[in-house]
Amino acid sequence: MYDVEREKKVIRQGEIKMKKEPFVTKEQIEEIVKSYPTPFHLYDEKGIRENAKAVKEAFAWNPGFREYFAVKATPNPFLLNILREYGCGADCSSMTELMLAHELGMSGEEIMFSSNDTPAEEFVYANEIGATINLDDFTHIDFLEKTIGAFPKTMSLRYNPGGVYTLSNGIMDNPGDAKYGFTKEQLFEGYKLLKEKGVERFGIHAFLVSNTVTNDYYPTLARTLFELCVEIKEKLGIKISFINLSGGVGIAYKPDQVPNDIRVIGAGVQKVYEEVLVPADMGDVAIYTEMGRFMMGPYGCLVTKAIHEKHTYKEYIGVDACAANLMRPAIYGAYHHITVAGKEDAPCNHKYDVVGSLCENCDKFAVDRMLPKIDMGDYLVIHDTGAHGYSMGYNYNGRLRSAEILLKEDGGAQLIRRAETPKDYFATFDCFDIIKGLV
Ligand SMILES: *Cc1c(COP(=O)(O)O)cnc(C)c1O
Repeated sequence: MYDVEREKKVIRQGEIKMKKEPFVTKEQIEEIVKSYPTPFHLYDEKGIRENAKAVKEAFAWNPGFREYFAVKATPNPFLLNILREYGCGADCSSMTELMLAHELGMSGEEIMFSSNDTPAEEFVYANEIGATINLDDFTHIDFLEKTIGAFPKTMSLRYNPGGVYTLSNGIMDNPGDAKYGFTKEQLFEGYKLLKEKGVERFGIHAFLVSNTVTNDYYPTLARTLFELCVEIKEKLGIKISFINLSGGVGIAYKPDQVPNDIRVIGAGVQKVYEEVLVPADMGDVAIYTEMGRFMMGPYGCLVTKAIHEKHTYKEYIGVDACAANLMRPAIYGAYHHITVAGKEDAPCNHKYDVVGSLCENCDKFAVDRMLPKIDMGDYLVIHDTGAHGYSMGYNYNGRLRSAEILLKEDGGAQLIRRAETPKDYFATFDCFDIIKGLV
């Protein structure tokens, strides 16, 4: 939800800038590090709850609505449980994500399985726990039948319209170049075939553009899918029961971006629903979403400490986190805003590269970033790491994954995942046996 308080407009040196403020203060960080050393991912319980409530309200007009949180964005059981209080299910894409949702006690209908290039045993398990299987490809129909015998009563298919998908404000992506989904022709054949094979309830799914910072994406996608569903009904006599708009709703990573307003988005989808589906006697179709980034992204940050400063051809600040804790800047140059805790109002008059320790020159959280003067021991808050942050972590250079901590509504801190230790790193082999020559 767009929080006006937090995204205060500030006027500085005659120009208007949007200011991003962290949800945690320097004092709170100093308190947390007494128990848990940096680096760690911190999550904002209040923000998560307010946003989840806003999502629920934005789609309350649709009785069948459900948000299936994309587990891959933030696979933490505590956070999934908070979202569940607002009616969210889980969108899983692998065996372990399915296991996580199942372990949390989610029932079949709370679990969506939207995977691709899926191993047979994952289809078997998804079917066993009653998850809704969303097929990525026409050939998977045959593969699934051979793998699990008979089809479940409910099946969903993922659609890829090909070409270039453009929104009214010029944002576009290239579905024709994406590995996901059925072509339109295959989709029609797929529904026909599944109906012949006894499937009774059908869904459709599409994910066409990523991280859209516009309120237009879902309504535009909804129109594409709604019109397609009317065509499917007319041509095949098959009524689609649920339409899954998947993920792709973006967040304002940059301070000059205007955050999406989920209420405007929900109302936009409703308008198209009433225009297209209701007149086609499809006013009972359920809308599903699979948002990850929008549900969690802004409500997480990576807290790290400045431990080195280096003056060579550039000015570097070395921090105790690295790309193993947050990979997005290293792999796609993604912008993550940085605040120096306690220096929120200091002038940004120093140009730094903020770097981690990996033996990879792409391990930079920021390049040529204007920040306040950073002193050793300062805490840096790297914003918007609540989705696709911790979860993309890895162990390169033998770096260990950090802890995840929940900043509770009452201001207290709760450890919701401990940091890895060397023992975790060595758990897949016994290094000491190797050293002793026993292996
Ligand atoms: C990654 C993914 C999502 C979530 O995407 P966001 O951009 O984080 O909202 C949803 N559905 C599927 C199938 C995905 O692969």
